[in-house]
Amino acid sequence: MTKVFSLLCFFCVFNTINAQNTSGIKHKLDSLANVYTEYKINNKRQKAKLEATVIAEKWDTINFDPYRNDVKIQPFEVTFADSTYTSPIDGKKVITSHYGWRRGRPHKGIDIDLVTGDTVRTMFAGIVRFARYSSGHGRTVIVRHFNGLETAYAHLSEYIVKANDTVKSGDAIGIGGKSGNARGSHLHLVVSYKGNYINPEYLFDFSESNAVRNKTLWITKKWVTSRYHTSKLQSELELLTSQSIAVASQERDNRKKIHVVGRGDTLSGISSKYRISVTRLCKTNSIRKTSLLKIGQKLIVSL
Ligand SMILES: [Zn+2]
Repeated sequence: MTKVFSLLCFFCVFNTINAQNTSGIKHKLDSLANVYTEYKINNKRQKAKLEATVIAEKWDTINFDPYRNDVKIQPFEVTFADSTYTSPIDGKKVITSHYGWRRGRPHKGIDIDLVTGDTVRTMFAGIVRFARYSSGHGRTVIVRHFNGLETAYAHLSEYIVKANDTVKSGDAIGIGGKSGNARGSHLHLVVSYKGNYINPEYLFDFSESNAVRNKTLWITKKWVTSRYHTSKLQSELELLTSQSIAVASQERDNRKKIHVVGRGDTLSGISSKYRISVTRLCKTNSIRKTSLLKIGQKLIVSL
């Protein structure tokens, strides 16, 4: 308990120092992250400075999401020092459920198949923010990386790291399993930036290339909103690599109307009401023509 209290005091001091310099954090992170590739900085002072910057904002080892009460603003930029990541599992990655709407609820990550006992690795270097049981997610490890991005690894059977540990890209952080609310053993992988839950497939290619889709990516509301995607399919990608492109894209998205499915609604009925083809309606919403509509389901009906 004393240890927790002194840690809290430590972070309070950090927060006070940083309150005067919040706008500078991102710039600092960007410039430092570029020299921090794979944790190979030789300069000890620079390394300490980067680590201090990473834990300066909302460093919370108890709560899954310390940003849950914050107002979220999009679009925002995420930058990467490397063009590849380390695969979170050693074998081939099979995605069994995508980011998006699933059984009437948001699925804010992707499910990657694994066998209980498989090693789970951090995709990038960083500092472990959270390594504990979280309701629903089960045993979970969250790593905050040096670009501000966080990756969470849920349903683990065992932890290999603890909160505040520093990790290199590819370090083992846990053992896969099915703890929490999981139907079978798998890795539920969540990617977030300051509490914005990003569709992981927008940032990363989960084929064997282990590629980061671009070193600079802009994230609009669409890519942090589950209801614009379905867990059954990978959404069509539109990589946004500059602020102006992202702003224009988000404005287009904002003009899209949402139709809430009511009793007796059919795809053909909705398509004629909004004067769009069934094909376009299905493509926009990543659903099949044979999909059954559910009452309360939200569909994007572009004008
Ligand atoms: Zn999942």
